[in-house]
This record gives sequence, C-alpha cells and structure tokens, in this order.
Amino acid sequence: MTHAPLVVLGGGPGGYAAAFLAADLGLQVTLVEADARLGGTCLLRGCIPSKALLHVAKILNEAKHLGEWGIDFTAPRINVDALRARKEKVISTLSGGLAGLAKRRNVRIISAKGSFLASNKLRLERTDTPGVVEELTFDHCILATGSRPAKIPAFEIGSPRVLDSTTALDLVDIPESLLVVGGGYIGLEMGTVYAELGSRVSVVELTTGLLPGADRDLVRPLHKRLEGIFSKIYLGTKVAGLRDTGSAIEVNFQDADGANERKETFSRVLVSIGRKPNSNDLGLENTKCRLDQRGFVVTNDRQRTDDPHILAIGDVAGEPMLAHKASHQGRVAVEGLHDGTAKFEPLAIPAVVFTDPEIAWAGLTEEQAKQQGRSVEIATYPWAASGRAQSLARTEGFTKMLIDPETDRILGVGIVGPGAGELISEGVLAIEMGCTARDIADSIHPHPTLSETMAFANESYFGTATEIYKPRVNKS
Ligand code: FAD
Repeated sequence: MTHAPLVVLGGGPGGYAAAFLAADLGLQVTLVEADARLGGTCLLRGCIPSKALLHVAKILNEAKHLGEWGIDFTAPRINVDALRARKEKVISTLSGGLAGLAKRRNVRIISAKGSFLASNKLRLERTDTPGVVEELTFDHCILATGSRPAKIPAFEIGSPRVLDSTTALDLVDIPESLLVVGGGYIGLEMGTVYAELGSRVSVVELTTGLLPGADRDLVRPLHKRLEGIFSKIYLGTKVAGLRDTGSAIEVNFQDADGANERKETFSRVLVSIGRKPNSNDLGLENTKCRLDQRGFVVTNDRQRTDDPHILAIGDVAGEPMLAHKASHQGRVAVEGLHDGTAKFEPLAIPAVVFTDPEIAWAGLTEEQAKQQGRSVEIATYPWAASGRAQSLARTEGFTKMLIDPETDRILGVGIVGPGAGELISEGVLAIEMGCTARDIADSIHPHPTLSETMAFANESYFGTATEIYKPRVNKS
C-alpha cells in the first residue's frame, strides 16, 4: 500500500485541471484515470470530437449556400474513414499534450479504476495491467469522475443501430436516416453533423420546444433553420419503444399523453436524453459523502463534501454539466486546499449550443427573472441591422441584454447567430465585473464585427442606437 498527499480521481477537464494546478502550487499529486488516455468525456467523446465534426458540417453548409452568391460547387465526396481519422488525430494530439504536461509537472498517473474502501483509502483496479489490484491511502482526494449518457431500459435492445453520443461520435458510417431522441444540445449538435454529412435526420422531443430550459427567443431562429436541415422535428412526442427489424429500427411514437400511436423506421436511432453522474460503483457508501436525489455528490461552495478528506468537482458534483465549470471548480478545490480562501461563486457560467446558428447565454435569463419576480429591462439588437451579419448573409441572429432598471447593471446576456459562442465571453466579463449598459455602449467595438451588436444592444437600451430606430426612453 502506498500513500499520496493528494489524489485526483478522474482525468477529465475537471480532474486534470485540478491535478496540474495543484502540482504548480507545489503539491505532490497522483492522478488516477481508468481510461488509457487523459482528457475525459470532453476530449475523448464529447466537446472536442463533436466540435471537430461540426467544423466540417459548417463548411459543407456554407459551401451549399454560396449558390446564393453565384458560386456553385459540385456535391462533396465524403471519405468517412479519412474524416474519422482526422477527428481521432485531433483527440490524440490533445491527449498526448496532456500526458506531456503531466509528466513535466511530475504528476504521477495511475491507470486504474478507483473506488473508496474508506474515507482515506482507495482500491485501485489497474486498467493497464488486468488482474492487478492495489490500495492507496491519501490525505485528500478530489473526486472528478464525471458523467455518462443516461439510459432508458425500454431503449436497451442490444442493437448496434441504437447509438448514444459516444457511439455516434465514432462515426462508423453515414446512415441513410437517423432519428435523434431528445432535443437537447448534444442531440441537436450530433443531428446537425449527420444531416450535413448526408443523413436524413429527424428529431423527437418530449416537451413542446427544442432545447428545454433555453430562452425561447434564442431558440426560435435556430428552430427555423433546423427545419431546413432536418427532415422532421417532432415536438410533444414520446418514443414508446424501439425494435430492430434486422435492417433498421422501428420506432413506436406516441403523443406526450400516450395517445396516437404510430410507427416509422430509421436506419439508426441516437438516444440523447441527458447525462447521469458517475457516482455509483465508487464505494461512496464507505465514506461520509452524501448524494442528492439525482445522484450528484453534494458539496459546499469550496467543493468540500461532507467527508473532510474528499472534495468533488465537475459533472459528478452537479449542474451545469459543462467542461469549463468542471475546470473552474477544480481550481476552486485546489486553491481552497492550498490556502483555504477560494469559493465557487460565479455570477455567470456561459452555456453554448454549437449548432448553426449557435446559441449562447450567460447570467440571468428572462425565464429565471420571471420565476424570481425580478424586474428587468430587456434590450435587443437585431442582426439584420448589422453590416457584418449582412455581409455573411446571416441576419437571423440577435443580441439580447437583461439589464437592472435601477442600476443599469448587466444581469444576463443571450445571443443567437453564427459565432455566438465566441461573443458571449464579453457578456460573462460584463456580468462578473458589474458593468452597466453605459460601460458596454461606450466601449468602442471594432467595425464591422458581430461584437458590435453587444454595444448596439446597450445603446438601444438608452434609445440611442443609430442603426435602428428605437426612440429614446427615459435613460440618461
Ligand atoms: P469527465 O470529462 O466525464 O471525466 C471524468 C473522467 O473520470 C473520465 O476520464 C473517466 O474515465 C474517469 N473515471 C470515471 N470513473 C472513474 C473511476 N472509478 N476511476 C478512475 N477514473 C474514473 N461541455 C462543454 O462545456 N462544451 C461542450 O461543447 C460540450 N460538448 C459535449 C458534447 C458531448 C457529445 C458530450 C457527451 C459532452 C459535452 N460536454 C460539453 C460536456 C463535457 O464533456 C463535460 O461537462 C465534462 O467533460 C465534465 O468534465 P469532468 O472532468 O467533470 O468529467
């Protein structure tokens, strides 16, 4: 049995960020990861491979639309093996980079599946040497085991034609038709990829709108564009069952209330109905850690669990399940251990849906303001009035600000349009810095850029946006 002052369990964006920072601060760090490669869900089967494929999807789409400018390309020839290999190269480059960074920092990596035997002891089942089991005691452990796709027993029919996000990203082939079950961001992103590669894609969503939880104003332009890319979008519709016919999947649809049963067949079905924290199978019952009803490990604002030896970060520690939240919590956990001061208290955690158009938001949403009975003023700027958006022929977007009418402080930002994911960072900074609408309106933004719409939206709050006509309200 060996002892480590600090063990990080899980080498995703939460775990490796925590391990690397801890090493930089002079701590002796051991990182335990079950996978042969570092990077976690995000790098190996999530953010990065999906964005690599979305990059290709975007170019295919843009090439198609150049016809409107008098430029016609012939239909693309897609070599799926080469595409898959290119995506794998992106992953292996980044994963190899992480291994190198760990080595330079003297972070000890153990390839093993870890589970708790006690509050300060792990059982390590080596994944690089099958059959070898070791024990490791520690002073502190940062739990960063992430999450996995949620499953519904009725869809577990053991068919290779039923995919989850991981197998969809494997890109084995381009099916003739694909049904995406679940209109959340992962389903819409993967649906976009397959649709642009040539599949006939349909989406089914149980609730009455795509991207449940996102601002309806932002979703509207996306929905409209997806209607042009996807074959069908079924809302308020339930998938009651799946059957492998031997050559396709027969899907049994029902209305959300169980009425109007009907059947349709698809070459493949992608089940994308959310994610579950990896908190089971970890021996947490041998510790003082507590789980909430959804299986997330409960922590305080310093990422401390109820067990004084164990901290938890990232997807396993609660919503939102996003990579940048995981890394930030990793930083908080380590800084807290180092000098006891750091807290996780963001005013804005940005969320980005990398569809086309992209949707991004940060801080307070209109829906949350309503729920909290909080009075906010909303200022929007339509991209149809932006020279940059016109030059890109993408005028469906807009920029929306939620502003405190008493103080003029920026409380929330929402953007829909190409590049929204890049633009949202200004909103995050504005919220975190306590900027007022005047601060953003008076900051000179470069022309012609989509970032100008942020300044113009704030100008419109004062009624002084010159590129649209919106009379002055009573604001100085
Ligand atoms: P993970 O990345 O899940 O890493 C956990 C690690 O722990 C894994 O490597 C796992 O092998 C390891 N592990 C688990 N159990 C054990 C054990 N017992 N012993 C040892 N090791 C263990 N987020 C974004 O912010 N932006 C995006 O664009 C985005 N796109 C996504 C697209 C897809 C298709 C998916 C599936 C997810 C996407 N996400 C995105 C979410 C993002 O991947 C996660 O929020 C993020 O990876 C969470 O980081 P983490 O460190 O908490 O956990």
